[in-house]
Amino acid sequence: MLPEKFVLAERVLQVAPSPTLAVNAKAKALRAAGADILNFSVGEPDMTTPAHVCEAGKQAIDDGHTRYTPVAGIVELREAICAKLKKDQGWEYEPDQVQVCCGGKHGLFNIFQAILNPGDEVLIPAPYWVSYPPMVQLAGGTPVIVPLKEENNFDFDPEVLAQYVTPKTKAIVLNSPSNPTGAVFSQESLAAVGKMAYEKGWLVITDDMYEEISYIDGKLPHILHAIPRLRDQIVLSNGVSKSFAMTGWRIGWSIGPSQIIKAMNKIQSQSTSNPAAPSQYAALAALTGPQDFPKQLLEAFIPRRAYFVEALRAIPNVTCVNPMGAFYVFPNFSAYYGKTFNGQVIDGSLALADYLLSEANVASVPGAAFGSDDFIRFSFATSMDVIKEGMERITTALAALQ
Ligand code: GLU
Repeated sequence: MLPEKFVLAERVLQVAPSPTLAVNAKAKALRAAGADILNFSVGEPDMTTPAHVCEAGKQAIDDGHTRYTPVAGIVELREAICAKLKKDQGWEYEPDQVQVCCGGKHGLFNIFQAILNPGDEVLIPAPYWVSYPPMVQLAGGTPVIVPLKEENNFDFDPEVLAQYVTPKTKAIVLNSPSNPTGAVFSQESLAAVGKMAYEKGWLVITDDMYEEISYIDGKLPHILHAIPRLRDQIVLSNGVSKSFAMTGWRIGWSIGPSQIIKAMNKIQSQSTSNPAAPSQYAALAALTGPQDFPKQLLEAFIPRRAYFVEALRAIPNVTCVNPMGAFYVFPNFSAYYGKTFNGQVIDGSLALADYLLSEANVASVPGAAFGSDDFIRFSFATSMDVIKEGMERITTALAALQ
């Protein structure tokens, strides 16, 4: 026990642990204790890392790549990231504009640490990924939540956005395809947001982690294509966790103006030093080797998404926007709030997710964790059999509410 008068830092007291990781841990613990849990909680591909990538990681160890690397990551990997960006998007960046870090999440953490002063505001569209607001808070900034509407397919309404802008606005976070909604922002709304960002001088942070997992025909819209003059005030965040099923390797990166990357490197040099060396070589193999894996992922997800959305929409009074990217469905279950089970009122998404876990053995993430209590998130990065069984359980559990 700590001494009675010892208090933890205020910055820790103002944030909660990551709810996605917390539900995942709970589901795994229940399963280990023998419960027949279907886990739709955490977002990570259910495929294993491609064999040639694993081999490259092992080879790196055998080749002695077991020591510190440059703070920003090995230059070969930063070059490969630049080459990929040039090939996929036509954008030219130099390796000194890239920081490799311990997963996309860590990159975002470094960005906020590098740019925010106390009171600086960051616009975060909601539903948002669970970690953006705490990361902004941990950096001393203020998250400003901008609501997106289900009836608008969770796309931007520039007029609504304008209502949340203040002289303290410093940055905006864009995540398209979105976790948790799967929404892809339209070219028009990105152009409107980009114009506003350019005129006001905000930093635009694009979390592009799901860019390879897109169900739209043609090219995924991006704010830097919509407004190319944003180039000097944009940081692109990405990684191999989702596209190459490498969540445990912890490799992500940020690309942007040299001054910002340099500031982030200063922070990284004083915290992790560098991401794990063998993981960097594995990520290099992912980027420079065969590129068919992300397509295989997508092919596996397409039928699961179709089944899940249709089955959810078949439940009375449930609506579900068709996700255009990523691997989540985000149905609106609010018609079931206020109902009871054994006299216990289901008063929101936390209670409903708890109910689904305890009564149906289905693990999900409550919408409240994403700033949108009407919804529940289910990951479909799991087998079709699990999805079918899960949908039966969910449908039965909802029907049992009175
Ligand atoms: N991004 C994934 C999710 O939302 C991974 C877990 C996390 O870091 O939040 O489930």
